[in-house]
Amino acid sequence: VPPDSRPCPGLPRRMFVPGLLAAALALAPATPIRAATANPAPAVPADVAVPPADAARIAGAALASDRAWRRLSELCDGIGHRLSGSAALDRAVAWARAAMVEDGLDSVWLQPVKVPRWVRGQESATLVEPMPLELPMLGLGRSVGTPKGGITAPVVAVSSFDEMAALPPERVRGRIVLWNVPFTTYGQTVRYRSRGANEASRRGAVASLVRAIGPTGLRTPHTGNMAAYNDSFPRIPGAALSAEDTDMIQRLLDRGTGVKVRLSMQADTLPDGVSHNVIGELRGRERPDEIVVVGGHLDSWDVGQGAHDDGGGCVIAMESLRLLKELGLRPRRTLRVVLWTNEENGARGAKAYADSIGTRQRHVAAIESDGGVERVVGFGFRLLKAGTDSTDAGATARLVERARPLSRLLAGIDAAAIDGDGGGTDIEPLMKLGVPGIAHQTTMERYFQRHHTAADVMSHVDPLELRRNVAAFAIMSWALAEMPGTLVP
Ligand SMILES: [Zn+2]
Repeated sequence: VPPDSRPCPGLPRRMFVPGLLAAALALAPATPIRAATANPAPAVPADVAVPPADAARIAGAALASDRAWRRLSELCDGIGHRLSGSAALDRAVAWARAAMVEDGLDSVWLQPVKVPRWVRGQESATLVEPMPLELPMLGLGRSVGTPKGGITAPVVAVSSFDEMAALPPERVRGRIVLWNVPFTTYGQTVRYRSRGANEASRRGAVASLVRAIGPTGLRTPHTGNMAAYNDSFPRIPGAALSAEDTDMIQRLLDRGTGVKVRLSMQADTLPDGVSHNVIGELRGRERPDEIVVVGGHLDSWDVGQGAHDDGGGCVIAMESLRLLKELGLRPRRTLRVVLWTNEENGARGAKAYADSIGTRQRHVAAIESDGGVERVVGFGFRLLKAGTDSTDAGATARLVERARPLSRLLAGIDAAAIDGDGGGTDIEPLMKLGVPGIAHQTTMERYFQRHHTAADVMSHVDPLELRRNVAAFAIMSWALAEMPGTLVP
């Protein structure tokens, strides 16, 4: 997932961009949009300057190619979803490696990573009272299963941890807790998916259900990982229901109607398996030991196709290097693509990569694409306080100012927003080492409706938006690897 700090993902930007376009067109109907700028742009400092003509060539090649679309279709339709430890993820690793070799990168290698292996098995949730009804559900990653025959118990619904804490013990003990927390932002609501089972078990509940972590969709449950079990309490199963069924249960309870659910899950955790980060690079022509890392995560949840999360990000990063190679643009620094494994239920690929980098090479920037293939708006840049995961506000503000001249390279494809909202799960361990973390940002208007659901499939990816994302990502990757100076001088 992208950084949690974004308030309502993308909406203000989405509303802003068409307004800006309309204003530009009204001002200068007969001239190109970029000519409508009232004041001449300030001069670009020499050490962050790159040839705009090369950016235009990259954009032209990206917008003309359906290669990324064909690649994403190979991954989504040919391999499908790919949870850590699955045979499908092994196939995806082999596929990505072969694709990078085919693209002619200077070196391509696999980095072994030990990953957890959680398997879903058969599962169901059934309303037993007041009437029988099958409820679409998804077990949560890391959850234990239920005993054979399932767990049947009355449901108690709560809308927050505080409300739970205030309930008398007999209202919770022996029941199934339903966390009915309407979606606001991912960061605010995902806590109930993470900690719900532990908090319910602490009060004596026998299972934990969570309202879908996403805006109301089409009666779609969303899976995702739970926090590690707190071994002071029994391990109880956790699963997600759709927003609509959660609303229905809440209405029944509000009317004083007893609700009973049977939850049945075969979920199990097997011994760790071995997966791989897939890595390829274009070696720098002048400073090969300075590395710009770009990528996404190759694993996905075990539903849908992982098209937006994060097959698209992987393909966008791979295609960026392929385009530069095809155009003969060998950057000053080494540009390295990393497709991380196990982002969804462990982030062990991210840790293994950061642990491996050593001191001979210097990582000067890291870009992650994990916000789906929607309309691209720009890039976020962020620096952390050394050794921590908290933002260094002053250093980030300086970083954003330094990166700002790069936005003019992206204005032509309407992706020129530059802000301080950088980062990503897979690049966070690098950021803790002082590497500037950059998020590839899209509007994310529909992202959380499909995130971790059976609906995250290729049919919901717009081929033209995919091309524009490749264009923006390739230009930013190239600019950071090519500019004479580095983002943090
Ligand atoms: Zn993701």
